[in-house]
This record gives sequence, structure tokens and C-alpha cells, in this order.
Amino acid sequence: MKTGYCRILPCVVFAGVMSLTISCSNALASNDSKPMPALFSQLEAFHGHVCAGSIFGARIGLAAKEALKRAGGTGKFVAQYYDLSCPVDGVQVGAGTTYGNAALAVEDRDEHRLVLTAEGNKRKVEARLTKKAEELGLKSRDLGKKAKALPAGSPERVQFEREIEEIFSWLKTAPDEEVVVVTLLNNPKGTR
Ligand SMILES: [Zn+2]
Repeated sequence: MKTGYCRILPCVVFAGVMSLTISCSNALASNDSKPMPALFSQLEAFHGHVCAGSIFGARIGLAAKEALKRAGGTGKFVAQYYDLSCPVDGVQVGAGTTYGNAALAVEDRDEHRLVLTAEGNKRKVEARLTKKAEELGLKSRDLGKKAKALPAGSPERVQFEREIEEIFSWLKTAPDEEVVVVTLLNNPKGTR
């Protein structure tokens, strides 16, 4: 019995390691850094409300972080964002670059643009919103204003709220390339 068990066990362990290896290589092969739902619950608790800005900030932050890792960025990652508004909190959650750990600076220039720098080798990526994501973000804000002007529970308000939810859900789940444009700023030739 004992021998049989010992003979089987290595196969099980091996299969486990293999499947782990496969899922790791899939994750590395993919350019898509679509965030997990847990990240958005964390973001909502941190930011205090749900809004397009904080969601797309998280998408921008996460996509930039993953791109900078793929480009071989070393050392601490430091963020510079160019608008003082809701996306800043998303960037802190998505990229993990917080104001408190001196990894975030904000310049209020009315531009939804993030520059993430790896302090070790000074590699940099820039992340912006796609036109579609920017337009949907603005649309959700307008719909929110319209909804607030209507009595709670009225059919028109419910309809607006449903449209807003759809936009949030798209911003959370659409593939990276539909939401974020990431550019490597100063990387040596031949690296991504
Ligand atoms: Zn907000």
C-alpha cells in the first residue's frame, strides 16, 4: 500500500507543477493585465464611491505597471499623474504607487496621463486612455448628473443608472488595448 502511494504521489505533484507552469507562462505571454474583481472592491473602499475616473485610473495604473515590468524596469516604480482627480486613487491601487510611500506625484494639468518610471534603470512607460474610454467616462459623468436631478426610483433615473452601470462594467472588463494606450518612452532597441 505504502509503496503504491509513494509511486502515485510524484505524478500528482508533477501534474500540479506542470499546470502551475502552464498557467504562469500563459499569464506572462499575455499582454492583458485585466484586473481581478477584488481590486475594484479594494478601490471602492479606498476611494469612497464608484466612479469612472477611479476605475480607469486603476486600469491605467495596472497596465502601466505590467508594461514596465515586461520592459525590464527595475527598482521602485514611481508614478506621475497629470490631473488631480478621482483617477489618482485608481492609479495608487492599480500601480501600487502610493502618495504615502513617496511613489506618486500629481501635476494638475487636466491631462489623463500617467508616466511610470522604474527608479533602478530609469525605464519609463506612459499610459493614457483610449478615445473610447475617455468618451465613455465623460458620458457616465453626464448621465450621473441627469440621474441625480430625477426622483429616486423613477423609470428615467433607473434607466440612466443602468447605462452608467454598463459603462463601469465595460471600463472594468474590456481588454487593455480597448481602454489604455501604453507607450514605452525610453527603452533600448529590441526590448518591449
Ligand atoms: Zn471618484
